[in-house]
Amino acid sequence: MGHLRIDLDKCIGCGKCAKMCLKDHIVIENRKAKELDNDCLECSHCVSTCPKGAITLTPSSENGGIFSEIKKDKMFDGGMVSDEDLKSLYGAMTRSGRVQVCTLQGSTLDMFMEDVWTVINEKELNTPIVKEWAKWRSNHNSLEPNPVLWEGKQVLFIFANGIDSAVDASNRMIVKGLELRIRGFHSNIIMSAVTLDRERFAKYFPGIDKEMRMAYVIGHVRRFVEPVFKPMKKIKGIFDRI
Ligand code: SF4
Ligand code: SF4
Repeated sequence: MGHLRIDLDKCIGCGKCAKMCLKDHIVIENRKAKELDNDCLECSHCVSTCPKGAITLTPSSENGGIFSEIKKDKMFDGGMVSDEDLKSLYGAMTRSGRVQVCTLQGSTLDMFMEDVWTVINEKELNTPIVKEWAKWRSNHNSLEPNPVLWEGKQVLFIFANGIDSAVDASNRMIVKGLELRIRGFHSNIIMSAVTLDRERFAKYFPGIDKEMRMAYVIGHVRRFVEPVFKPMKKIKGIFDRI
């Protein structure tokens, strides 16, 4: 039984899914993605990587692989957290009344990230991720996810007068996120840009009167997974044992 449903009308044959798949479960044939008979981890990475939304996972309930829990995460199912879930997350975070929260997505997030880039460039910050971002921008290919966001399509911001309140809200967000199956990672690069030029970013958050303390990219925690799993992929048969 197949694990994936691939909409061939949507598929443009870009090969992102095949490249991403740790099990080599997908190939490109005649400029379309095709599922092979190899084992599928049902990790859903191909689902969220596909720029055209052409892949749907049809998980087998018997799957007991290491991703059987992780795959239930919200971002594995199209990459976006619903307004309802965000509201629920906000409710848990703002209970103390000492923080404000806001999420950017879509074209507003694109504009915001352009401003982040401008500040990072002006200040000549030069970290490995900035170099990676510069490379991504120079070969700009809208099919490749922005390396700062990975496949994340939403960024949640925490505003507070004091850092303690922000940390408290962040902890609440993580705990509530576990229940809602929402994960992500804190972005230092976004916070660096905002800290360097708070005035520039104020326009994105009308009505917010506290200071931005944290930027949390909702999505895969791929940065931590990839360096471990990509070399492992080279070790023959390793994935047959998990
Ligand atoms: S990533 Fe999506 S569009 Fe690209 S080849 Fe795979 S299924 Fe097709
Ligand atoms: S769900 Fe994971 S293992 Fe299965 S085809 Fe997609 S990327 Fe590969």
